[in-house]
Amino acid sequence: MLSHSPCPMQTPNLKMETLLKSALETSTLTRTGQSGGGCINQGEAYITDNGTIFVKSNSKPQARIMFEGEMEGLKALGATGIVTVPRPINVFDHPDGGACLVMEFIEMKGLRSLSSRLGEDLAKMHMQNVLLESRGNRITDKPAADYVAQFGFNSTTCCGYIPQENEWNDDWVAFFSQQRLDYQFRLLEKEKGDREALEMWSRLQIILPKFFKDQKIRPSLLHGDLWSGNVAQTKRHPVLFDPAAFYGHHEYELAIAGMFGNFSRSFYDAYFKVIPKSSGFEGRQRLYTLFHYLNHWNHFGDGYKNAAMAVMKSLLK
Ligand code: ADP
Repeated sequence: MLSHSPCPMQTPNLKMETLLKSALETSTLTRTGQSGGGCINQGEAYITDNGTIFVKSNSKPQARIMFEGEMEGLKALGATGIVTVPRPINVFDHPDGGACLVMEFIEMKGLRSLSSRLGEDLAKMHMQNVLLESRGNRITDKPAADYVAQFGFNSTTCCGYIPQENEWNDDWVAFFSQQRLDYQFRLLEKEKGDREALEMWSRLQIILPKFFKDQKIRPSLLHGDLWSGNVAQTKRHPVLFDPAAFYGHHEYELAIAGMFGNFSRSFYDAYFKVIPKSSGFEGRQRLYTLFHYLNHWNHFGDGYKNAAMAVMKSLLK
């Protein structure tokens, strides 16, 4: 999730360390000093008997839902065998309230030389489910993975700390309209009493199908919050982390990084080599950024209102 300011470093928490020692059955639990806080969570690395782990913790009551979703997302992304993500270990209740997510620690640095590899791998991951459909029930010596025919996910996932409604839906336009945009507008109305945005939304939702004319959209597994703060690289491969995963339109994945101008040209060239742009791509990107502006508005306040309203105005033209 977009970070506005660095979070304070985590101080040692003895109750937490006792819990981790017993839950992970390790006699060694040594802080490495590598702590990483996004804006939402605190992160801390420890050496254990079974390798180095990274623990994200959050004291909010909704932390368990958030971390369980992140764990399911990491499992699904890792299971593709195409992208590298930290292997999730488990979610525990935090002794001070909230929860923590324990995962494999990966030594990583900023994404630079492997941008194009990330673009290619991401596109291949987006195609994986789509290709399963076209292969049908072809008999191979490998057990076939199941084609996921709907949009959604097997658990709630959070983009930031706001839950995403992931109930399975056959129709992408209905899914994106109701379970993504409408959900954010309802939250704005409830939390901020904003009726101006809601009025524009009532006009926009009527014309949404025009952005999808002649498009046959199939579900792709998405990271769901793919901006530069959630990617990195090791010496050998790109790494993705902090997902808000679900099955959705592959183009949706590119919107948040596009909004902040985050990725290099080589990333996009490699991505579009595997999945070329289809007609109406730019208009749909604007539509997909609307979700992220609304989500930022709901997380960080009215500083994002103007941007969200401007996107809506341009979509209504
Ligand atoms: P948040 O959920 O608060 O946004 P992130 O998951 O983005 O937190 O993690 C914050 C930082 O912690 C990352 O930028 C990265 O540097 C570091 N980090 C996250 N996961 C791992 C991991 N598995 N191994 C090593 N470092 C990690």
